[in-house]
This record gives sequence, C-alpha cells and structure tokens, in this order.
Amino acid sequence: MALVKCPDCGREISTLAAACPECGCPMKAPMKSEDERTAKLRRARERNELYESLFRLFIAVMVVLTVISILRDEKAMAWIKDFFTAPVGIKHDFSTGRGWG
Ligand SMILES: [Zn+2]
Repeated sequence: MALVKCPDCGREISTLAAACPECGCPMKAPMKSEDERTAKLRRARERNELYESLFRLFIAVMVVLTVISILRDEKAMAWIKDFFTAPVGIKHDFSTGRGWG
C-alpha cells in the first residue's frame, strides 16, 4: 500500500483512499496523474528499447558490411591470411633454426 501526499493539505494518505480523511479532497485526480506519469515513463522506456534495438541492428549491419567488404578486398584478405599464418611461420623458423627472413 503506497502513500501519497494530499494535494490540498499535504497529509500522507493511502492511494486506496477515495478521499483525504483530513480535508476530504477527492483522491481521483492525483491517482490519475500518477498513472499518467507511470504510462509516460513506460512509453519512454519502450521508445528507448526501440532505439536500442535499432542501434544494435545498425551495428550488426555495419559489421556484416565491413566483413563483406573485407572478404571482397584481396589486399585485406592477404593481410588477414598473413596475420593468421604468421605464428606457423615463426614456429617453422624456430624448428629449423633459421632467421626471420
Ligand atoms: Zn487533505
């Protein structure tokens, strides 16, 4: 059970009360505004979630486009191939006792 301040006298009263027991101020109005604030917050949260999912989709599309452009770029592919085959080359150099050349 939540307590709200009476808009008229400021006394803390139950949200379940139909009217303030102190001054008789009807409690419908403050409860409605509370609902509106909650609804507004919920709408804002939903909008944020929408933006967040759109942002994630955008990032995913960018990553896919980047990967595709790398796969289509022979120079980049050669660099990646060198990068991943380099450790094997180093191992080979160690086993044969040869230099880095
Ligand atoms: Zn009151």
